[in-house]
Amino acid sequence: MTVTLGIPTVRTHDSASRTADRPNVPGLLDKYNRLATDLRISLTDRCNLRCTYCMPAEGLPFLAGPKLLTREEIRRLAQIAVRDLGVRQIRFTGGEPLLRRDLVDIIADCAALEPRPEISLTTNAIGLAGRAEALAAAGLDRVNVSLDSICPETFAVITRRPFLNRVLEGIDALGEHGLVSTKINAVLMPGINDDQGVELLEWALAGGHQLRFIEQMPLDADHVWSRDGMITAAQIREKLEVRYVLTPDAAPRDGAPAELYQVREKTAAADSPSLGIVGIIASVTEPFCEDCRRTRITAEGGVRSCLFSHDETDLLGLLRSDATDLQVADEWRAAMWVKPSGHGIDDPDFVQPERSMSAIGG
Ligand code: SAM
Ligand code: SF4
Repeated sequence: MTVTLGIPTVRTHDSASRTADRPNVPGLLDKYNRLATDLRISLTDRCNLRCTYCMPAEGLPFLAGPKLLTREEIRRLAQIAVRDLGVRQIRFTGGEPLLRRDLVDIIADCAALEPRPEISLTTNAIGLAGRAEALAAAGLDRVNVSLDSICPETFAVITRRPFLNRVLEGIDALGEHGLVSTKINAVLMPGINDDQGVELLEWALAGGHQLRFIEQMPLDADHVWSRDGMITAAQIREKLEVRYVLTPDAAPRDGAPAELYQVREKTAAADSPSLGIVGIIASVTEPFCEDCRRTRITAEGGVRSCLFSHDETDLLGLLRSDATDLQVADEWRAAMWVKPSGHGIDDPDFVQPERSMSAIGG
């Protein structure tokens, strides 16, 4: 049975119709033989920024509190994922996950699971300065901070909020509390910050952070994305190579979305040590769907097998009924079995998902 609850289509518990050809294996396998071991859980669809490539200026109709997964529901889903479905990494995202008052408890719950998953957070870092210590103590392993510009004016144009200092304070606090290996995610946009790639990389290298440029995807709430209006991976490399030499990193990519490069000054000797690493996530022009290992849970407990899916499989209804963990796991496996082979952005009949990045959980 499929019922439509607004946007997107939400499938209720009809896994039998989708499992006839599904092998009885324990993990989150799909028809294309990909195994999802990397779980992203969206903790809220709300945010305190309004990045132009993600949210409209006026915000979105946000979910009412009772529709959000509770701390206990998140713990149960995470437990099923690591104990029964082979998930090894859990990343909390949103919306802005720091807006959840119970974030520290949620992380502590996941750190107590067996086997212990690697736990990470993707955040805009607003308010992180005051919470980094507690998050580290709760068991958070790694943090990705989204930061598209270190120029206050540009930051305010992109995010529609003048909060650059708060973000920088948050990043500093991570190192003070032992959260190292922070990654910085940046989206470059033509005429806005595409001339700031080198500056951003110089800043990230100096701070010991791994900068990753993300190609802008058609996941904006305003639906104004166009292929001509985005900065491609090739253009990003070209811009960085004005100042640096980029050498593809020798380490295997191992399902990671970012292509990594060792960075050296152009003026330095060929055998000079690398200054660090930069990553490029070329989801649009150099897609990596065939090695995708991700499964997503939205803030209201829907499984999305792909960022670009048009439907979700509801697990919240199961959690709030008397369903067993086995039933929840089986529904999750059924949802992942039908994961599409790729995002299809290049297909002539591609249709952008109704939900934007903040509502899906990026
Ligand atoms: N609010 C948190 C943050 O910004 O880090 C977490 C959620 S945000 C949706 C996760 C990531 O999605 C961010 O790094 C953001 O830059 C990225 N993102 C949002 N919209 C995007 C788009 N249209 N194309 C590419 N990346 C996007
Ligand atoms: Fe908020 Fe993150 Fe979207 Fe920016 S990218 S509006 S910080 S959810």
